Amino acid sequence: MRSFVRFSLTILLLLGADFFGIIPCSNAAPQAPASAPQSAVSPDPSQSVPTDPRALYEALNALRPDGAHVYTVKDLTLRRDVVSFTFTRGKLAFLAPLGGRITGAVFSGRGHVIATPHERGERRSLAQFIGVPILDQPFSDAYIRFSDDTAAELQHQLAEDGVEAVSDPDFTAHWDPLAAGLAPTHSLRIMVDYLAAEPIPYFYILLQTDTAGPVEVSVDYRREEQVTIGQPRFADGIRSYDVWASFRTENSPAVHSEAFVPLDYRVDSTIAEDLSLQGKTTLHLRAGRTGERVVAVELSRHLTVDEIQGEDGQPLPYFQNEELSRRDAARRGNDFILAVVPAGKPVGTDFHLQVSYHGSVIADAGNGAYFVGERGAWYAHIGGEHFTPFDLTFHWPKRLMLVATGNESEAREDAETKSGRWRSETPFPTSGFNLSQYQMASTSGQPKIQVYANKELEQAIMARLQTSAPNGVPPASMLDRYKDTDQLSGAIDPPPAPSPTSALKQLGANVQDSIRFFDNVNGAFPFDHLDVAQIPGSFGQGWPGLVYLSTLAFLPSETQERAGLDEWAQSEARDLMPYHEVAHQWWGNLTGAASYRDVWIQEAMANYLALWYADSKKPGQHRLTNWLEHYRAELTNKIPGADHSIENVGPLVLGPRLGSLKVPDAYNTLIYGKGTWVIHMLREMLRDPGAANGKDPDARFRELLRAVLAEHRFRPLSTADFQHAVEQHMTPAMDLEGNHRMNWFFDQWVRGTDLPRYTVKFEVKPHGNAFVVSGRLEQSGTEDIFTAAVPLYAVRVAGKPERLGVVVTTGAETRFQFESRIRPTRVVIDPNLTLLCNKG
Ligand SMILES: [Zn+2]
Repeated sequence: MRSFVRFSLTILLLLGADFFGIIPCSNAAPQAPASAPQSAVSPDPSQSVPTDPRALYEALNALRPDGAHVYTVKDLTLRRDVVSFTFTRGKLAFLAPLGGRITGAVFSGRGHVIATPHERGERRSLAQFIGVPILDQPFSDAYIRFSDDTAAELQHQLAEDGVEAVSDPDFTAHWDPLAAGLAPTHSLRIMVDYLAAEPIPYFYILLQTDTAGPVEVSVDYRREEQVTIGQPRFADGIRSYDVWASFRTENSPAVHSEAFVPLDYRVDSTIAEDLSLQGKTTLHLRAGRTGERVVAVELSRHLTVDEIQGEDGQPLPYFQNEELSRRDAARRGNDFILAVVPAGKPVGTDFHLQVSYHGSVIADAGNGAYFVGERGAWYAHIGGEHFTPFDLTFHWPKRLMLVATGNESEAREDAETKSGRWRSETPFPTSGFNLSQYQMASTSGQPKIQVYANKELEQAIMARLQTSAPNGVPPASMLDRYKDTDQLSGAIDPPPAPSPTSALKQLGANVQDSIRFFDNVNGAFPFDHLDVAQIPGSFGQGWPGLVYLSTLAFLPSETQERAGLDEWAQSEARDLMPYHEVAHQWWGNLTGAASYRDVWIQEAMANYLALWYADSKKPGQHRLTNWLEHYRAELTNKIPGADHSIENVGPLVLGPRLGSLKVPDAYNTLIYGKGTWVIHMLREMLRDPGAANGKDPDARFRELLRAVLAEHRFRPLSTADFQHAVEQHMTPAMDLEGNHRMNWFFDQWVRGTDLPRYTVKFEVKPHGNAFVVSGRLEQSGTEDIFTAAVPLYAVRVAGKPERLGVVVTTGAETRFQFESRIRPTRVVIDPNLTLLCNKG
């Protein structure tokens, strides 16, 4: 589930300075209140803006509230999109201006904030955190930063009210240390606007609320979702961020253009005997907007930048974890850096940036098994989903074998070191590598499969399983974990250590078999070859042409059992994980998620195709049916202590944000469980059960998948794109709204959270040689307007269910009347699992 990592940073840690640039920046000038930074205060020559970026950053950090001009305010108001602030009464001071621009203010007194997001999913998200779907909080203090015209707006109101500023150094003295501590994040963001030819409005407010603690609201037009409401959280020594709501403003531009777009990457990495990494990434970039000078680059916090060079090899100023000490940076730093180019470039200009760094990103799992824990962040890159060529060079200790994405060439070795070069044959969304003391087996046939496993890894993992806190094994929560990971932490007896390498050939053959199946569904395998490498932990991961599989996938079921895996976990490791990751070769690597909101498509598709494949191998075991029922049970079980089920927690389009909702397993259960159901429902609706002999009843579903992949080949895919493709393949029966749109389906199942419950009441009357079955289908657990096509079947004692027809629900109760050849004793709702619902 690599996609998750590619978008994890879009969950902005606002106070952690992951603030800007991770989400691609906005181009179009938004309408009011978006004006250029104002200059209501006449410029002070002593406050000229430093031209050196670092001096500018420090000057912004040094800004303090102006104690000589403190206003006693009454009923000042500000509105940013759907968020309204009232400063009811209290004191307010602006930060001292820099170059004539005011970039902040502080307030103490009584105030009130109200926000109601338009989208239901966002209101649901708010409710998960604060109990109600609306932000409605009194506050006592406010720290405000901006590059928009907030100062002018407030000054205008103060002037209208005839408020005179007075000197009140006591008021601002209280704020000075806070202003100093809070500044760095905002200094960086505001610096970007000072340096840009065209500033793009930014507004941020930190509120000390009466009952909800500190709450942040930001409205930043450099981000695709401009409005964010959230709260930093510190628990068990771990800093995280709760995004309560995130959405686009009403006036946001339809097309979002990024400041800089990657064209290709060249990465040169040297891995020392102690596994430390020294690297250099050359980013070939194109300016997406004119006049931008700050390039945001993602790089692991465990890598320290040594130098960034611009086009002519000149060193550039850069910012990495500015507000943190070196020790803190590794512990809780940010995975991005800002580099400042000497001058803004016209849109479309190509240029190079060379980032040199060193650090430690390779974890030692013991017994010669290693894992590159930083995945996509082990090289410097532009965030978001971009498909580009990659040219990777590695130098590494000779005792190890290295696998990487792309086609290998130029293999060399000397007394101590091996070297090699891997180039992508098609554009890749990301690149990865791993190295270990592998053994390798390859299969014949196309594509060529090479499977790598470590003979010793087994014992290393098992030894770790006996301790409650595994070390070095990547935290499952960060990875493509399977739900049952937790069960691995229990103490167990050491097994007789079957070697994972014994399964190499068989696993290779299985993977190749699954590729044939997926070829038939998705179209041809998109890469030249597939490497399958064992990694420590209990998760898998799919890179372009390279799949990482957990040790568990290499183990016989008996050993899995001894490792504490229950039946579902075993089935997951054995029947699903390898094929889920293989399916990601198409869904995740041939196409990718356009944003964090679209991750569900890739994950759900990979999971569903793996299930379909597993089901096809042993039809008698009904694996697909069993898993669908298993997922439904997980989705509909009430959360302990809550009055709702996991299904109600949030919609699929919240993506990784589901993981922060404080509901254990919400992310896994929804993205994998509900996501799988959504794909299944689409397949069922597109299915032609009456297809003539020899005809494929799933022909339409396959066509849909192939069309989506063809149209988004090496391009990101959004939920809207996917819906559009479904609409082009929909049957008349799917057109429940009569407008050739699938809004009803995507609004309810993807952007919504309801799961309907159905009960049926009926009566039977003879009619000629047949019977009339009439009655009503009752729907609950949803909004009134919930629409679904519910199949009903007539059942006689000891008879096979006979299909009566489909009831399209429109509200709490829908009447129906069908003719039946048999006299039913029961009417059964959807016995073939085509619809995710509760019954009875
Ligand atoms: Zn996945």
